[in-house]
Amino acid sequence: MPALPLGDLELLPLSDGYFALDGGAMFGVVPKPLWERVAPPDARNRIRMAMRPLVVRGRHTLLIDAGVGDKVDAKAGGIYGFDRDRHLAHALADAGLTEDDIDIVVATHLHFDHAGGFTSRGRDGRVGPRFPRARYIVRRQEWDDALTPHERNRASYFNENYVPLRDAGVLELVDDDAEVVPGVHLRRTGGHTRGHQMITIESGGRTAVFVADLIPTTAHVPLPWIMGYDLYPMETLEFKRAFLREALDREYLLLFEHDPVTAAGYLRERNGKLEVEPA
Ligand SMILES: [Zn+2]
Repeated sequence: MPALPLGDLELLPLSDGYFALDGGAMFGVVPKPLWERVAPPDARNRIRMAMRPLVVRGRHTLLIDAGVGDKVDAKAGGIYGFDRDRHLAHALADAGLTEDDIDIVVATHLHFDHAGGFTSRGRDGRVGPRFPRARYIVRRQEWDDALTPHERNRASYFNENYVPLRDAGVLELVDDDAEVVPGVHLRRTGGHTRGHQMITIESGGRTAVFVADLIPTTAHVPLPWIMGYDLYPMETLEFKRAFLREALDREYLLLFEHDPVTAAGYLRERNGKLEVEPA
């Protein structure tokens, strides 16, 4: 995917490869005869999902989420069918970047498919921050929940993906919808997790939004198409309802982290239905 200019900034949707999640879980209450038309399942009922971290390049180089990384064991690898022949390190290199170039890493939330790539295992077997110069920004609500998981969300949280950031002194916890660097704001959505946040990027009078798991793929634009994984689906519904209206009215460029085909696009209303026009 080529770089997307946004005012004085450049947006680079990168790839950490693909994985597969149960189609029923991905679409919640939507019956299979409906979702299988837009997201065809494999023999194990799983649908293909991308992992697409975003680099925002301006005076600073930001990375939003970092994919699953390479600490996954064989059991999880089998369940989730990771396809990472080409992963984030390749994508960074293709963009002329190295891990040293990243100044700030921002977490939408700490599920493994977003935060796994925040840390890496060194030659001595120890896990530490992967981006040596970066500070890492995490919402405190999400941090607290990740460290005290319950039976419903435990399978998504692995301490080795984020605790080493705190131990290395590179973690910055934020409580509010802070501005990370000029034009880049955190915005809590809740819904998927209590502390789930999306990232808005503004420059030159234009706005792009990295919507993360609020709208993981373009198939999740219709209001009731909400993941079964969401802890607070009614919160997702209400946030999504208001946000889709706003995104349409203000012509936001939306960045889809998990869509296997479409990395970015604009909402369009056709015959009363919302669609995504790829950018
Ligand atoms: Zn998630």
